[in-house]
Formats: sequence, C-alpha cells, structure tokens
Amino acid sequence: MHTDRLAGVGVSPGAGYGPAHRLVRDIPEPHRAARHGGDAAAERRRAEQALERVAADLAARGDQAGGEARDVLAAQAMMARDPGLAAGVAELIDQGVSASRAVFDAFGKYRDLLAAAGGYLAGRVADLDDIRDRAVATLEGLPLPGLPADPLEPYVLVARDLAPADTALLDPALVVAFVTEEGGPTTHTAILARSMGVPAVVGCAGATAIPPGTRLLVDGSTGVVRLSPTEDEVARAVRAVAESSALLATVTGPGATADGHAVPLRANVGGPADIAPALAAGAEGVGLYRTEFLFLDREDPPTWEEQQDAYRAVFEAFPGAPVVVRVLDAGADKPLDFLPPPAPEPNPALGERGVRMFRHYPDVLAAQLEALARAAGGTSALVQVMAPMVATAEEAAWFTDACRTAGLPSAGVMIEVPAAALRAADLAAVTGFFSIGTNDLTQYTLAADREAGALAGLQDPWHPAVLDLVALAASAAAAAGRECGVCGEAAADPALACVFVGLGVTSLSMAAPALPRVRAALARHTLDECREAAAAARAADSAEAARAAARVELPALAELSL
Ligand code: PEP
Ligand code: MG
Repeated sequence: MHTDRLAGVGVSPGAGYGPAHRLVRDIPEPHRAARHGGDAAAERRRAEQALERVAADLAARGDQAGGEARDVLAAQAMMARDPGLAAGVAELIDQGVSASRAVFDAFGKYRDLLAAAGGYLAGRVADLDDIRDRAVATLEGLPLPGLPADPLEPYVLVARDLAPADTALLDPALVVAFVTEEGGPTTHTAILARSMGVPAVVGCAGATAIPPGTRLLVDGSTGVVRLSPTEDEVARAVRAVAESSALLATVTGPGATADGHAVPLRANVGGPADIAPALAAGAEGVGLYRTEFLFLDREDPPTWEEQQDAYRAVFEAFPGAPVVVRVLDAGADKPLDFLPPPAPEPNPALGERGVRMFRHYPDVLAAQLEALARAAGGTSALVQVMAPMVATAEEAAWFTDACRTAGLPSAGVMIEVPAAALRAADLAAVTGFFSIGTNDLTQYTLAADREAGALAGLQDPWHPAVLDLVALAASAAAAAGRECGVCGEAAADPALACVFVGLGVTSLSMAAPALPRVRAALARHTLDECREAAAAARAADSAEAARAAARVELPALAELSL
C-alpha cells in the first residue's frame, strides 16, 4: 500500500492507536479445479506446515488464556494435527489437487462424518470448520477469520462493514478504534462505536487493503486514518484528547444553555449494559431505549417475562427520571429473525419496518407492552413508550391507543419520516410526545440509504431540508403543548445540538460518551445564540454551508476544541 493516510467519515470522536486487525467473516472456498504445479511433495509440505501453524497458534493462545480455554483450544489443536486428516489431505495432493483445495475437501469429508454422528461429535463441526478456514487462509495468504481471540495488545478493527452482532461481541478494552470501508454516519457500526466510546471512521475507501499489523492512528473526529505514524504524531494526538476531556469534565450538572434554559440531556441505551456509562456521564434519564438490541440474535420472540427483567433493570437505574422506551424497530437495517417481513421486499428501508411490522404481529406488540407495563409498575421511573417509523396520524393514534389499553398512559411517536414531520400537527393531536430520529429522518429526506457508504455525503443531518423538518416538528409540538426531543445521532454533535435547541427541541438524547461535549457546548451559549445559529443554518443552501454558518454564531465551540 503506497499511501500514508486514508480518509473516511469520522463518526465517533477521539484518537485510537494500535495495529490493524482485519475482520474477515468468510474465507472464500478455494476453486474446485485448483491444481498444484506438479511438485506434490512440496505441496504436501506446504499443507503440513499450514496445519501445524494453525495447531501451534491455537495451543499457544490456549496457554496464554489458561483455565477452561486452554483445554478447549488444546483439543482443537489436536484436531488440526490429526493424522487421519493429514493423510486425507496428502492423498488429494498426490492426485494433483492444490493444498488449499485438498484441505477444504478433506476437512469437508470429516465434517460430514462428524455431523452424521450427532451429539457431542456434531457439536465439534464448528471447531473443524474454524481449523479449515484458518489453514486455507494461511495457505492463500489471507487474514485469519474472526476477531483475535487473545490479542497481545489492543488493536484497530478494520472491516468491510460491521454487523451489530460483530460489534456486540467486542471487548471495548481491546479495541482502540474501528475503521470500515463501507457504511455511513448513521449505520449501526457508528451507533455502537459511539455507545462504546470507541473512535470510529466509516466509509473509508482502501481500508480493507491495509496490511494486517500496520500501526494505525485513527482520528474519529476528522475521519483521517494515518498509517505507520511517527511517535511524535501519536503523542500529540493522545495529548489533545486528554486536554479536551479535562476541559469538558469541568462542566457538570443538568443540561442548560448559558442563560439557564433547561435542556435535559439523556442517554441512548441498548440494554442494561449501557446503564453504568449513562449514569457516569450524568444522563438525566434515558431518551431512547433501543429494545431490539436485546433480541438481535434470537430466533423466537422473547416472552414478556424475559423482557420485563431487561426493562426493569433500566427503569430502576433512573428513579424519578424519564425513560423513553422504543418498541421493537424490526426490519431494514435492524432485521429480527422472529419478525420477518411478511413477503420478500425489493427495498427493505421502504418496506415493512418499525410500527408497520406490528400490524402483522399484534401479539408481539401486546407482549412487549405488557412487559413494559409490568416493569413500569414497580419503579418510580417516568416510563414513556414510543413507536418507530410512524408515517401517518392514523398509525400514531393506533399505537397510542394500544399503549393506553396496555396501561401505559405516556405514549408518543418518533419523527423519522418526512410525512410525519410535515404533518406533525396532525400527529400531535393524537399522541403524547415526539422524539426525532435524525438518522432515519436524514435517510428518508435525502433518499440516501443509511447503509450505503458511498452515499455518506448525502446522509448529513446538517442539510437544511432536515433542519426545516426538525423545525416543523418542534413548532407543531410546542403549539400542542407537547415535548419534542431529538434522539438520533445528530444530537451528539455539539454544534448541531445547539442548533436543535435553537429550533425549539426540548431535550437531547445520545450515546453516553457524547454527553460531556454537548453539555459543555450548551453551557457556553445562550438560547438566543442557539436561535441565531439555527436561523443561519436554515438560511444556508447546503449541509457544509449550514455547518459553517452555525459555527459563526457559536463562538465558544472553538474554545472548547469542539
Ligand atoms: C433514528 O433513526 O434516528 C433513530 C434514533 O433510530 P435508529 O437509529 O435506531 O433507527
Ligand atoms: Mg430510526
């Protein structure tokens, strides 16, 4: 690779430094007809060496991890050294088959035998596949599949894209940054990175070509990824992050502008694991509880009893404070196995998702509302429930009625669809509150799929069209005496947070690590300055111009290095 820097979109601020680890999910099957050049003995040696390397690596990782992992990995290493398997590989190579295809086929035969045996042996199929993939990757010079099991030092995770399931398994202590080739600012990689407080750059062309092990300095604010930086550059980046955090930590207490206009600052959470960081960052309640994150890997719907425990844990952590729970937002970018769309869809983002899905699965909504009502019963949290992806007043009324019937009097809707923002007054007449989901509102306003990295330039919540819709929703809510928060990722941008307040938004909710920056930005500007910034941004004709115009009205941002 002949470049010393790559650029993408910075989606989770901070600096991360470490060796690149490329996440590969599937090792491609070696070509069926792959043959070696004729020297069978040399090819056999290559295969033996690859299998031995895999075995030695597994055993070494087991020794390092100790405990139960040592026995599990030692057993896997033994499989890689199995003489029967080695003989099967050698036999194929002697017939002219390439080493990687021979490994693939010989392991495939063993795999079928194990699977047919059932019971414990069938349970080892995944181990065998893992050895096969490692050996094939070694032979083909590809990165090894999966996350490093016991890395020697924290690393930068580089991937084409990250599924929520990949990131959910990550240990934040071991990952210093994410860099993905695809994805935009509102993909779930970005959301999870922010909630973990891990710097991240998405939509970074060329990322997957970075040679594994290359040391990277990732700037999650500017989107720049430096390859093999000097020690000096690393030290400077680390110092800048430390100085800015120290400055931000001096601003504490409830969210408010410099002249005392209260703007409650709440946390976005995905489950009980996010409670501690939210409390530590001084969240004034929860503004978005993404309940589908609890059930991403389930094949069957969770019972209301199971749900109740997950909800209660969050409610009890915020006595007396609002906790806004979103009912399952299944479909499109957040597919749930147990809530599939009723028919195949050519365009899932415009298909059955969010509240629409519950029209097909009323029992799932009923179970979730029952769990919420029961969990709310025993706590003093101010439980509010909202529906995602609402497009019409009829949907808003239907959902609000369902909540009331379930004993949940505080029901509201997310404003994520332009139609809902344009006709917010109609929705305000039939439901209790609004929460603006700027991720989807931006996607639908600019008609730019939030999963499409190539469209990252369009997925910009600073676009004046998005700001106009936010203003419409906020003023319709105010006219009807309703609250109107923002819980999309845009609320975590300190400058945009000030603009939202200037547009009339009444609360902001974001991933906990962003709270100190937004709290400090608000505390340094008056409500009038926020209004001026909002007016300047709406008067601009592009997202970049809006950003620049707003910053002129928000002079303290630069002092805070925001
Ligand atoms: C949004 O769309 O802004 C939002 C908060 O919901 P999600 O990102 O989970 O779709
Ligand atoms: Mg959304």
